[in-house]
Amino acid sequence: MTSAPMSGQAASQAQRPPVLREVAEFLSTRQRLWIGGKQVDAASGASFTSENPATEGLLAEVARGEREDIDRAVAAARRAFDEGPWPHMNPSERGQLLWRLADQLEAHAEEFAQLESLDNGKPLTVARAGDVALSVDHFRYYAGWATKIEGETIPINAPDSARYLDFTLREPVGVVGQIIPWNFPLLMATWKLGAALACGNTVVLKPAEQTPLTALRLASLIHEVGFPEGVVNVVTGFGDAGAALAAHQDVDKVAFTGSTEVGHEIVRASAGNLKRVTLELGGKSPSIVFDDADLELAAQGVAGGIFFNQGQTCCAGSRLYAGAGIREELVARVCEIASSTRLGDGFDSTTDMGPLVSRDQYERVTDYIAAGEREGATVRVGGGDRPSGLGRGYFVKPTVFSDTRRDMRIVREEIFGPVLAVASFEDLDEVIRRGNDTSYGLAASVWTRDINKAHRVAAGLRAGTVWVNCHNVFDAAAPFGGYKQSGYGREMGRHALESYTQTKNVIVRLA
Ligand code: NAP
Ligand code: MG
Repeated sequence: MTSAPMSGQAASQAQRPPVLREVAEFLSTRQRLWIGGKQVDAASGASFTSENPATEGLLAEVARGEREDIDRAVAAARRAFDEGPWPHMNPSERGQLLWRLADQLEAHAEEFAQLESLDNGKPLTVARAGDVALSVDHFRYYAGWATKIEGETIPINAPDSARYLDFTLREPVGVVGQIIPWNFPLLMATWKLGAALACGNTVVLKPAEQTPLTALRLASLIHEVGFPEGVVNVVTGFGDAGAALAAHQDVDKVAFTGSTEVGHEIVRASAGNLKRVTLELGGKSPSIVFDDADLELAAQGVAGGIFFNQGQTCCAGSRLYAGAGIREELVARVCEIASSTRLGDGFDSTTDMGPLVSRDQYERVTDYIAAGEREGATVRVGGGDRPSGLGRGYFVKPTVFSDTRRDMRIVREEIFGPVLAVASFEDLDEVIRRGNDTSYGLAASVWTRDINKAHRVAAGLRAGTVWVNCHNVFDAAAPFGGYKQSGYGREMGRHALESYTQTKNVIVRLA
């Protein structure tokens, strides 16, 4: 995925594609949990509603899974792991199932893109070209890995070493609980499932309460393409369901993406049975632009880095450090891009930016904008008032603050909205220090024509991803994850396989 270019073109006539018949049918059916290869109601019979954040209207009714449902789902995943064919299946068959899933997802791409846009608010164009396309690619990438998870042989240092054979087996961890957020609902499910399934684990997935729909639709495709029952279970619900999963004694690993605050709770909950944990948490990523950068490229990249996905991206470039010589011009260009960004319903073909995901998130982000103003930063474009012409929906204007100081909340805390805090810098060592002046360490981008500066900054920043002259570029093969309080463990690439396998050492003494 690369961040969507922020277009400043005048709006032409907006067009709205019709909602697909399959999507309309899905939305009008009360959605149930997927446990043990079947759709089931929550044990309590309870449900909740998902809304369309562009209209604030009811979108779908979804079963509310709670502790008892997590228990049922974990039991199904446990059976599928301990007694089912899955962990011992021929790896090539596992790979083929993942490949078939990718094919089916691709065949239903428009349906998934529409569901995602309606549930999350993101532009349909972005859901198609970003979320869904990358998800297809991701499953294909991990389909290939299923046959390539190999151990090693190790020479033993004994007097009669020739009589020993020491080798390692890479075995699946077991039952994995996966808890995901609402910013890229399908893609986060896919990131989590791809590596786990390639390695032979079974899964209980808990989607975010704001965006449960595409994970449920994906579960039905998983069932249709022939994954054995209980290999993937999906329990929709609230934080209590996530907490029950994180604490469950029969879960061997939990993989979490979300807030740093809940990340701390996950670690505490994992202590009961010392389950393995990987965490992909928040960020406060710097975009660093040197005086010698290609300014147009940098302005587009910085704007895309913070405004993409309405700023609801864990690696959003939310702090801009601009070289003192170009600061004013760069800020003017970023503001120009912000003010020409067209906000609207994700289904309108002219929409560049949709609403935030929920009322809670809208209030959180507008509170931060108010805090920035109170603390003395200058609003250069945007602000917390409602964008004109949009009477409903959780829309927040792309906002740029200058005159920021390091102690301001808008500089220190993750906002998770389209809000950029600008500061300037004089030299390279200073900007590395300031880039690292955060408890987070997820990502960063550096903009310069000088390869020496680019490499020195990339080496000096404590962040899991550093982009040079680009931002928000992802690939299934490229590892992603955090330093510091942005979490631990890596998703994607062969690195993700590490956390979904454990190593068994076998030492054989030959007669
Ligand atoms: P969150 O609470 O961390 O939610 C992420 C996931 O964890 C959801 O599925 C959530 O369920 C679940 N959850 C909540 N409490 C839990 C608990 N005690 N134990 C286990 N799972 C639990 O995030 P949020 O409240 O939606 O968003 C708040 C802030 O988090 C955002 O403003 C942003 O700063 C940050 N965030 C970061 C990312 C990221 O990609 N790193 C993504 C989303 C949000 P429910 O949906 O039912 O609460
Ligand atoms: Mg929703």
